[in-house]
This record gives sequence, structure tokens and C-alpha cells, in this order.
Amino acid sequence: MRVLVVEDEEGVADAVSRGLTAEGFVTDVATTGTDGLWLAQEYEFDVIVLDIMLPGLSGYEVCRQLRRAGSRVPILMLTAKDGEYDEADALDLGADDFLSKPFSFLVLVARLRALLRRVPVERAPVLRNGDLELDPAANRCTRGTEEIALTAREFSLLEFLVRRRGQIVSRTTIAEHVWDADLDVDSNVIEVYIGYLRRKVDRPFGVQTIETVRGVGYRLREEADAPS
Ligand code: CA
Repeated sequence: MRVLVVEDEEGVADAVSRGLTAEGFVTDVATTGTDGLWLAQEYEFDVIVLDIMLPGLSGYEVCRQLRRAGSRVPILMLTAKDGEYDEADALDLGADDFLSKPFSFLVLVARLRALLRRVPVERAPVLRNGDLELDPAANRCTRGTEEIALTAREFSLLEFLVRRRGQIVSRTTIAEHVWDADLDVDSNVIEVYIGYLRRKVDRPFGVQTIETVRGVGYRLREEADAPS
């Protein structure tokens, strides 16, 4: 799950971002409203944590513009009790939830998970490749009738490959979407995780769907979907 945190207070942004990463989220941080809006329009996020008082554009304006552009990404607004705007404004603008500062990190994570569950089914369909099934809403992976336990990172990587099945995806693209953009693509981290996935979703089933494209990246071989 990829989260965009738009927050100009460095301490808060850092703590939230580190905490969410530890919880298995992929986190991007924007420190101005302008950057936040740009990132939200340029990339696909599963949920956005949006502060209201921001340099550039206010969170209020970011939310309004995203909704006007048709985005339905769940938004949790951070409101300050003494701020110019209050909770009612946040909800009026199309935010899905709000949290007053200062907030507890545990409460934030609980609220984000609740928001992710609330996402309409059509936004998080079950993904398939052959008899491999991924249900991002339930964090569930199966091949045939076998349930496969994946870590959060393995799940994100496999989800990314299944969404682009049949296509070659470069290590850089994988690094940007599944890890934070600052992952050193020359490290062997991606390779290691590809290996974990092969040992879990391919080898025990006698198949080789996750292919290495030498010098470029990886490709999940496209397979006809099993009848559902
Ligand atoms: Ca602020």
C-alpha cells in the first residue's frame, strides 16, 4: 500500500513516514501543498494523509482540486484544533476522515487501515494471472486452492508484477513503486525479493512465471486466467 504524506512539519512527516514504513507501507512525503498535489496526480496512491496548513497550496485546496479532477483516493486530513479550518470543512471538501493534531501514531494507522478497507470493491479488484490470485483488499494470495503467506513487501512486489503481467518492468520502476525512490537500484534487494517470491509462488507449484529479463528487469509471464 502506497501512502502519500503531505506535511510541512519535518518532525511529524519523518515520524509518520518512518512509522508507516515499519508497518509495511510504502511512503512518499511532500512538504508543500503544491508538491503534494503534483505527486497525487502523477502517481497512484492508496491513501493520502494531508495536513491543512501547508506552504504553497493549503490541504483544503489540494483536496478540493483532487476531487474536482475525479480522484477518489481516500484522504485523511490532519486538522489543528486552533486552525483556520475545522473538521466539518475537511469533510465538506471531500476528505474521508480527519484526525486532530497532536495524534497518536497507533490511531493514525488504525484510521488508515479502516480507510483502505472502505475502498469500494471496484477499486480493488481481485487480480489474477492463471491460477494465481491476489486480493489486495484482503492481503490474500492463493495459487489454485493453496493459500500463500507473503510479507507486506513480497505482496506489494507481486501485486506490482501482476498488474503489469506480460510486460517487462525495469528494476528502477520496481524500486520507485514498491520501495522508496531512494532504494539503490544497483543493490541486490529487488533480486532477493524476486527470489523469495519464486520460492513461494512458483517453485512449489512446478511453474516459472517470474522471469528475469537480463540487463533490464523482470516479467511476469502472462497466463490465461483460470475460470472463476
Ligand atoms: Ca502544517
